[in-house]
Amino acid sequence: MTGFTLELNEDQTTLQKWLHEFSENVIRPAASEWDEREETPWPIIQEAAKAGIYSLDFFASSWADETGISLPITMEELFWGDAGIGLSIVGTTLGVAGILSNGTLDQIGEWVPQCFGDENDVKLAALAVSEPNAGSDVSSMKTTAVYDEAKDQWTLNGVKTWITNGGIADVHVVVAAVDPALKARGQASFVVGPDFKGKGLSQGQKFKKHGIRASHTSEVILDNLVLPGSALLGEKSKLDERLARARERAAALARGEKLERTRVKGGQAAMATFEASRPAVGAQAVGIARAAYEYALEYAKTREQFGRPIVENQGIAFMLADMKTKLDASRLLVWRAAWMGKNNQPFTAGEGSMSKLFAGETAVEVTEKAIQILGGNGYTREYPVERWHRDAKIYTIFEGTSEIQRLIISRAISGIQIP
Ligand SMILES: Cc1cc2nc3c(=O)[nH]c(=O)nc-3n(C[C@H](O)[C@H](O)[C@H](O)COP(=O)(O)OP(=O)(O)OC[C@H]3O[C@@H](n4cnc5c(N)ncnc54)[C@H](O)[C@@H]3O)c2cc1C
Repeated sequence: MTGFTLELNEDQTTLQKWLHEFSENVIRPAASEWDEREETPWPIIQEAAKAGIYSLDFFASSWADETGISLPITMEELFWGDAGIGLSIVGTTLGVAGILSNGTLDQIGEWVPQCFGDENDVKLAALAVSEPNAGSDVSSMKTTAVYDEAKDQWTLNGVKTWITNGGIADVHVVVAAVDPALKARGQASFVVGPDFKGKGLSQGQKFKKHGIRASHTSEVILDNLVLPGSALLGEKSKLDERLARARERAAALARGEKLERTRVKGGQAAMATFEASRPAVGAQAVGIARAAYEYALEYAKTREQFGRPIVENQGIAFMLADMKTKLDASRLLVWRAAWMGKNNQPFTAGEGSMSKLFAGETAVEVTEKAIQILGGNGYTREYPVERWHRDAKIYTIFEGTSEIQRLIISRAISGIQIP
């Protein structure tokens, strides 16, 4: 093993430079327009596909980096350009992660390429978990999946909400309750291809949002959606075994027996997948925070009041010092968690959650301070910092709110199932 280093290797440096150029030349100039239009930036996704950034190959090689750092580098650079456009480019990976973590090898081979399409015909994917009454508490979801043994078909019914790329995606991964009484232990994932759009799967309300407005967020309505047996991600026999174990467990609990906590495939196991993807989400927040910090620093050096640049006041300089310190600390937490995840180091203290929690809250704080440093200009849409502040706020909400991250960390460090 080589000694400890935080130096990027040659591949990572090249990746960072290439993505930064794309972000600077293509994403950032388009950011304000797509924020105002509040529409999916198809031409930019197309350009990313042509450049080889929006592609299965690109994400597969980022994921494959054995240090784990290439994925956070990718996220930071793209989201430095713009978070709404960034999420339009990387939102597909949520659906891909749903397929990778639950599907068989055949299903992965069949569906993952369809999530991206190709540079001449780009496709999107979505992961539909949340429901109006099941956000932080996904175990209480109401969407049902009922199996018809004779026809080898599943029928799904329910409403999913706040789904990134919901309704406009070609591939939707939908989590539904096969046995709602079993809560998280009774859930399974299904892959829904483009043939079912308008035939049981449709887009409901499209949400107008505070930030990341270029990223499409919608309800997904499942109305007697009839899917072939093969739409279940994973093997049916394994699902049956899992449900049988869960039912035995529920019966034992009903008899008053004391049972050890066990991991739940599809429930807590899905949470473990989220835990592993959290550093990548934290890296997106780092990208936004860095954009705001850099902009505010330059502004503070040129804006003069009382006959001198405002950065010459400790009140401003110290704000910038705090911004940079928290920004760097966020990146270090993100890189640590990404390295741990890739190198099979268990997150014994919720390190994945720590990275997303700290980076998300830092992005909100840094972008808010950037507005303060720009004064009146910062509050107007003539300058990008107000958009970055609006964009940053989602990082304390989606992919697990800050409170849920604190719950995961506190449970991990205490060993107590804090309610
Ligand atoms: C723009 C956007 C995109 C999204 N994309 C997707 C997507 O692609 N797919 C998907 O499935 N979902 C998606 N979501 C949903 C997102 O994951 C949820 O909004 C999030 O999990 C929070 O759920 P909720 O909104 O129902 O809030 P709630 O769960 O109702 O929480 C409300 C408040 O209560 C707090 N709270 C809840 N429980 C506890 C507790 N036990 N202890 C302390 N505090 C608690 C929360 O932290 C929060 O502050 C998206 C949401 C948004 C806004």
